[in-house]
Amino acid sequence: MTTQKMTYRSTRGEDAGEGYSDIVLTGLARDGGLYLPAHYPQIDAGMIFSWKNLSYADLAFEVMRRFADDIDPQKLRDLLRATYVPGRFCNGRPEDDATLITPVHWIDGGACGLLSLSNGPTLAFKDMAMQYLGGLFEMLLAERGAQLNILGATSGDTGSAAEYAMRGRRGIRVFMLSPEGRMSAFQRAQMYSLDDANIYNIAVRGAFDDAQDIVKAASSDARFKTECSIGTVNSINWARISAQVVYYFKGWLQAAARPDEIVDFSVPSGNFGDVLAGWIAKQMGLPVGQLVVATNENDVLYEFFTTGVYRVRDAAHTYVTSSPSMDISKASNFERYIYDIVGRDPGRVRALWSEVADKGGFALSPEEMAAVRASGFAAARSTHADRVRTIAELWQREGVMIDPHTADGLNAARAHRREGVKMLVLETALAAKFAETIREATGVDPVEPEAYRGIEKRPQKVLVMDADVEAVKAFIRRTLQDCKA
Ligand SMILES: *Cc1c(COP(=O)(O)O)cnc(C)c1O
Repeated sequence: MTTQKMTYRSTRGEDAGEGYSDIVLTGLARDGGLYLPAHYPQIDAGMIFSWKNLSYADLAFEVMRRFADDIDPQKLRDLLRATYVPGRFCNGRPEDDATLITPVHWIDGGACGLLSLSNGPTLAFKDMAMQYLGGLFEMLLAERGAQLNILGATSGDTGSAAEYAMRGRRGIRVFMLSPEGRMSAFQRAQMYSLDDANIYNIAVRGAFDDAQDIVKAASSDARFKTECSIGTVNSINWARISAQVVYYFKGWLQAAARPDEIVDFSVPSGNFGDVLAGWIAKQMGLPVGQLVVATNENDVLYEFFTTGVYRVRDAAHTYVTSSPSMDISKASNFERYIYDIVGRDPGRVRALWSEVADKGGFALSPEEMAAVRASGFAAARSTHADRVRTIAELWQREGVMIDPHTADGLNAARAHRREGVKMLVLETALAAKFAETIREATGVDPVEPEAYRGIEKRPQKVLVMDADVEAVKAFIRRTLQDCKA
C-alpha cells in the first residue's frame, strides 16, 4: 500500500490538500468543479486476486481505506461491516448467494453475467453507495458535533435511496421534495410510508423541475444554507463514487479465473457516476477491458463516445422513457473522466465547461479524442423496442427477469461482446419496480420482494406545498426551531 497521504483536488482548480472526510461533507468543490483523488492508488493484480475469499465488507475496506486514509482504519472497517450485511441486500434471486452482497447471475451460456447491485432496500443500485453514506455521515457528524439537513428533489429513485439510508440516523434530517402526483404508486408508497421522525416528505404542486429549482434556489442562498446546515447527497458526492468502485472488484473476482484475466463491463448510464467508478477501478489496476456505456433514447453519452462531441440537451429534447433513471440532459460526473482524458489540466476543463455554459457543448481535439479511444470506452444506444425485446427474449429463453435499465445494459453488452472475454452487465434495478414494462414484454407480473408486499396500503406521511421556495425555506426553519425547543 502506498504511504503517500491521499489528498483531493478539484477538476477546475488546484490541489487544496483536503482529505476524504472534508470533501465528502462538502460535495461540490468551491470553484464549481468536482473532487478527485490527487493520484489513483495502485494495486497489483496478484494482490487483488488474493482477495477472492474476502467478504464484501472486507474487500470494501481494502479498496476504500486507500481513498479514506484520514479515517481511523478500525472505524472504517466496522462501518463497512455494519453496512454490507446480507440482511440489508436480500431482495435478489433466491437461487443466488446473497452473502456475496453483489452476486453474479450467469446468462447466455456463461458468456455474460448480471452483476446484481439492486438487492438493497429500495431495489436499485443507488443503495450500494447510499447505505454506506448514511453511516459515514452519522459517524463524521458525531465526531465533529455537527448536524446536517439534507435537502433534495427526486423524481423517484434517488430520494427513496437517500431516505432509506438516512432514516433514524443521529444528527441528520432529510427534506425531500417530490412532484405531487407524478411518481408511480409504488414509488410514492416507498417514500411516504416511512414514519421516521427525521424524514420529511414534501410533495410540491408542480413537476420535478419545479422541485429541483426550489432546491437550487435554496442551496444558493448562502445564509440559509449556513444557518440551517443544508447539505446534499447527489451523485457527484465522492463518497458515493468511492463506494461504487468496490463492486467492480467484487464482480471481477467472481468472473476471473486468473490474476491477468480481462473482464468487460456494460453499464446502464445516466449521470455517469456508475461507469466512472469502473474507470477508476481500472486506473487502480483492476484488469478491466471495455467499459460499455449503455444509454436509452437520451443519448448524450452515446453521441460523445461515437463522435467526440459533447452536446447537452434542452428540456424539449430530453425524453421520458421506460428506463426513466437514465433520462438525463447532461451527465454530471462526466467532467471527472474528461479531466483524466485532458491530462488532468484544470485550465482545459474550465475552458471546456465554459463552452458548455455558453454554447451548450464542446468538441474535443483530435489528440484528446485519441485518448478517449485508447481509454477502452465503448457505447451503445437502445430504444423502448430494444428493451422490450431484450426482456422478453431473456425471460422466454432462460426464465430470468430483468428491469428496463438492465435491459439497456444487456442490449449494449451484446453489441460489443468479444469472443473469449467475459462481460458483466451491471443490474441497476429489480424488475418489480417497473411492472408496466415487464407486463408489456412478458405478459406476467414481476415478483414483489417480501418486504414490499402490500406497501401501497400502508399509511403515508407527506406534506403538500406550493412550488414556492420561500415557503419551503420557512418550513425548514420552523421545523429546526421546533426540534431545538
Ligand atoms: C441512477 C440509475 C442509473 C444511472 O446511473 P448513473 O450513475 O447516473 O449513470 C441507471 N439505472 C438505474 C436503475 C438508476 O437508478
